Amino acid sequence: MTYNTSFADNLQRNHDRHAQGLQALFAAGGAIESRRITVRHRDGHEFLADWAISIASRADGDRAIAIARPSAQAGESASPADAGEVRYHEILDQIEDACAVVDLKGRYRFVNHAFCRLFGRSREALIGTSFSENSRSDDRIAKLRGVYTQVYQTGTPVKAFEYQLTVNGVEKSLDQSVSVDRDANGQPVGFLTIIRDTTERARAQHELARAKEAAEEATRAKSDFLANMSHEIRTPMNGIIGMTLLALDTELTPYQADCLTTVRTSAESLLTLLNDILDFSKIESRMLKMEAVAFSLRDAVADTLKPFEVHAHQKGLELRHDIDPDVPAVIIGDPVRVRQIMNNLIGNAIKFTERGQVKVSVCQERRRDGRVVLHFAIADTGIGISADHQAAIFEAFRQADGSTTRRFGGTGLGLAISTSLVHMMGGRIWVESEPDAGSTFHFTAAFDLVEGTAAAPPKAAATAVPPARLIKVLVAEDTVINQRVVMRMLTKHGHTVTVVADGREALDAIEREAYDLVLMDVQMPVMGGFEATAAIRAREQQTGGHLRIVAMTAHAMNGDRERCLAAGMDGYLSKPLDPQLLYAIAEEG
Ligand code: ADP
Repeated sequence: MTYNTSFADNLQRNHDRHAQGLQALFAAGGAIESRRITVRHRDGHEFLADWAISIASRADGDRAIAIARPSAQAGESASPADAGEVRYHEILDQIEDACAVVDLKGRYRFVNHAFCRLFGRSREALIGTSFSENSRSDDRIAKLRGVYTQVYQTGTPVKAFEYQLTVNGVEKSLDQSVSVDRDANGQPVGFLTIIRDTTERARAQHELARAKEAAEEATRAKSDFLANMSHEIRTPMNGIIGMTLLALDTELTPYQADCLTTVRTSAESLLTLLNDILDFSKIESRMLKMEAVAFSLRDAVADTLKPFEVHAHQKGLELRHDIDPDVPAVIIGDPVRVRQIMNNLIGNAIKFTERGQVKVSVCQERRRDGRVVLHFAIADTGIGISADHQAAIFEAFRQADGSTTRRFGGTGLGLAISTSLVHMMGGRIWVESEPDAGSTFHFTAAFDLVEGTAAAPPKAAATAVPPARLIKVLVAEDTVINQRVVMRMLTKHGHTVTVVADGREALDAIEREAYDLVLMDVQMPVMGGFEATAAIRAREQQTGGHLRIVAMTAHAMNGDRERCLAAGMDGYLSKPLDPQLLYAIAEEG
């Protein structure tokens, strides 16, 4: 609280005790308080003055309204014509809040300009009338009467009770305080009441709340739109990538092979871009949720490195990894997101390194209270990053310099996504690098420890193995291109495939014939994949047995996996289908 120092000095000079009392009132943020203090006039004589102080909290800081008038001497009548009273009323008229002096019967003895403005009545019309005659709301009259009684009985001012009022057809929010008004002898003679019009503030708050709601709604709409777009784009991408892979496996002229390889690489980078943008938007709209499942970090590192081996080998790079023996066998966290960060960093390391090696190492930074913080480092011997570019590359759409895009491609989203994911895992990410000497990207992440068990969970089969046995597969999928892609991929490995177009047909097919595996699209006309799976599982309750059902979905949103498993499916493949994962699923059983 700040106040005019000359005012305080003045009081101090006049009367220390009263000055302290008033300062205490300031400090307590008090409401309205009346006091009588001795004041020394300029000409040296002392006289009594009545002070009324009100401290009002406003958006732009606290403010004090102080009104002083010479006290009426004993025997002297306090007529309104009294010069002090006139001055007092003049001051009240300057105040923006509506003020009224009310006698003990509730009749207005004085109302200021703001009061008249607020209620749209003239001073003449109001003076002498009772507050209850001027209000149409019985509720409010009763409430105000209660407040007056309470203030009278306790002598304690009542601050800010709020109510709504319609004045001349306009709805207003008001905030009222009431205190006792005393005469020269300290006897209560009425009340001083201050009403603040808070309509604007209430409206601003309401608008803010509405704007927030609208922004949240827009974010939800954006995320829905992205989820749908990603679904729509992934479906044809499945056709493009799948068919290209199949065509590349046939007899081709070198020219054709070259064209198709370009189609494949372009389609794959388009898919990466799509995934990046989807992830980035999900992070932005805070829709990305972290899973908490038990997984083996050693397997996660090995699985992440595997797809890079061929590319690294082609470039003549050595790809190594080293996991400290201290690192727990099983940890609880989100393996998909840990792999995504490693994937980004390893991908960059290989991309920006022409010779030498890329090495992934993991060690334990600390372990406490059932939590472990791991430190990952991905070191390369590549082109490096100059000191002045090192901070910028972690921002979205930023690359070290303009020539990078032309030489190496990329969107500049990978590190921004990795940074957000690392933060969500309670860690940090940074780089040490020197141009032409190589870079080391570090990140830390916190995981929960599994109580009492050190056993690694079963390793997810993600690698291609030669077909162990040939199976009969039922494919339920409505898009013709996708039907063809799955069918050709499976028949290429010698499996027998039956294709149906919806869930209903799938149920009929299962009635007629036995299958080893059903690949079930989730979104189909007539009957969707979840419904069909539920029907199959219900039937198995009676007949026994368990038919393997694996979902195929173009949805790439969080929670798809859970939804599929909850619907009674045994697994989940996302489109565009990765042939290796498809074979692994088919040949697993
Ligand atoms: P992208 O690789 O798609 O451009 P990233 O966000 O992954 O996007 O990387 C941003 C930039 O950081 C890259 O364009 C590159 O300039 C620089 N960068 C990242 N990793 C490395 C690395 N290992 N060596 C050299 N430069 C790197």
